[in-house]
Amino acid sequence: MGNHNHCTVSRRAFTLGAVVVLAGCSSTGEDRGPSRPAGGDAAPTSLGPPPTFTGDLAPLVEQVTVPPDLPEAAPTIFRGVRLFDGEKVTEEVDVILAGGLVTAVGSGLEEPEGAEVVDGAGHTLMPGMIDSHVHAFPESQEEAARFGVLTELDMFVAVDLADQMAEQQASGATERADIFSATSMATAPDGHGTQFEVDDLEFLTEPSQALGWVEDRVAEGAAYIKIVVESGGDFQALDQQTVGALVEAAHAHGLRAIVHAQSLEDTLVALSVPLDGLAHAPRDELPPSVVERIGEMGIFVVTTAGMAQPTKHKPAFDDDRVIDRVNPELLGYFRRPTYASDDTWATMLPTLQALHAAGVPMLAGTDSGNPGTLSGAGMLVELDILVEAGMTPVEALAAATSAPADTWGLMDRGRIAEGLRGDVLLVEGDPTTGIQDLHGIVGVWKWGVPVELGLA
Ligand SMILES: [Zn+2]
Repeated sequence: MGNHNHCTVSRRAFTLGAVVVLAGCSSTGEDRGPSRPAGGDAAPTSLGPPPTFTGDLAPLVEQVTVPPDLPEAAPTIFRGVRLFDGEKVTEEVDVILAGGLVTAVGSGLEEPEGAEVVDGAGHTLMPGMIDSHVHAFPESQEEAARFGVLTELDMFVAVDLADQMAEQQASGATERADIFSATSMATAPDGHGTQFEVDDLEFLTEPSQALGWVEDRVAEGAAYIKIVVESGGDFQALDQQTVGALVEAAHAHGLRAIVHAQSLEDTLVALSVPLDGLAHAPRDELPPSVVERIGEMGIFVVTTAGMAQPTKHKPAFDDDRVIDRVNPELLGYFRRPTYASDDTWATMLPTLQALHAAGVPMLAGTDSGNPGTLSGAGMLVELDILVEAGMTPVEALAAATSAPADTWGLMDRGRIAEGLRGDVLLVEGDPTTGIQDLHGIVGVWKWGVPVELGLA
């Protein structure tokens, strides 16, 4: 309880080692345990009238732009494959990748000259996955790509690294996931996030600082704004007025505002402002009125359910198809216990179920960078959990493909359709009916270029 470890992370040396330290610092404070309401709907709810949305959100990527210097790759034709296109399943389809893009989807397609032919019998082709909550480091992007996660949305990273990553993305680096980043996060002095002691973390103490703070993030290239409302443990939280001012400032720049809130109390603060989404499914039991409000507001929830699960019963941890391909240097980290307790886990499945039933867009996110999860393989854990929570396998797969593409405005990916990016993965079996088949990834292509999987 009251864990407030001090670890130093330099923005100039944000390497794998530093990330292990970062995560060792308890980034989410779950070890404080959930603060539970006294009972059912008698919770300390003070749901005022719903906030009014402001601003016009810009898509993160408006259209397909093929990077000029992609590695050379022959066209690929998948013959007679089961296709999950991001939304629905079609049996026995041909799909062609060429020049970085999906160029045709149909049956009996003509083979392009010099094409690699992939027999799709017994296999499923699906869009490259999108992880809507990571804390990225260079090795993690490669790890992600090898497990078919070709886009990662970072929720707080060192700025220098963000620059590096943007460069790689523009160059079409095909062996690593694309990254979008919040760059920093808005928090109070002694707020959640300060335990990492990242140099130059800019704190806020009052609403008047919000616009300047957001402008600084815009200058750093932030793709969206991450705001922390965390009053657990010893942390100081931003007040409601400052959170509201940050959301407004984000919207003034066309940026989405994503709020970290995990307790019921903090979630109520988040829901009093016109935010766009929650960075985590809350850890506390949510009264039905709060679930309803989240549904009415039309905001999204990033699941990060794997982080609410103690290490036991994660099927991916015992599956050689997964474990044998995880970077051995990261394996111990992946299997380390999370900060979660049995209580947080007991609450998580019903919460996911209730949010899903209320029609809330659910986006799969791992919170990788923390122990007990990992870029890439952690997504397989996450989707297993979403199905355990009652989503159909197709809904869970959509939470990692078309749903985040629609929510973030990633108009060039998240689906397999003519003219979109050639970001696909090939799976043995049928994850659209048995989600754990997704553990058996046998091929990944980014911009139509095969990714080295490291299969023996
Ligand atoms: Zn996080």
